[in-house]
Amino acid sequence: MAEINDELKAVTFQEFVDFLQEVKAKQPCSACGKKSWVVMSGEPSEMVKIDFNGSEGRGLSVFSSYCANCGAIRSHAAPVVLEWLQNRSERSGDQIEDPDAGTTDE
Ligand SMILES: [Zn+2]
Repeated sequence: MAEINDELKAVTFQEFVDFLQEVKAKQPCSACGKKSWVVMSGEPSEMVKIDFNGSEGRGLSVFSSYCANCGAIRSHAAPVVLEWLQNRSERSGDQIEDPDAGTTDE
């Protein structure tokens, strides 16, 4: 999973905010009902590792935010965020080059 970790570290704060807005993750805090979220910056953290009998548990990387009022934590699975970003970059893949570049008429 080394590659996916590098991809996760490349996700910017703004990209995560874009993700939240586009998937409409705008619900108020389920604990207190306030609508003020603080996004935790830095690398995504790893969550929930369960070792089932005989197999090593696998963690799930998450992007988290917490309620500014009561501190309740909301997490989004990093693979979902990554997939959304990849789909978005494919959608905007055909970028338009500047048509004015490099033409002079004497
Ligand atoms: Zn709250």
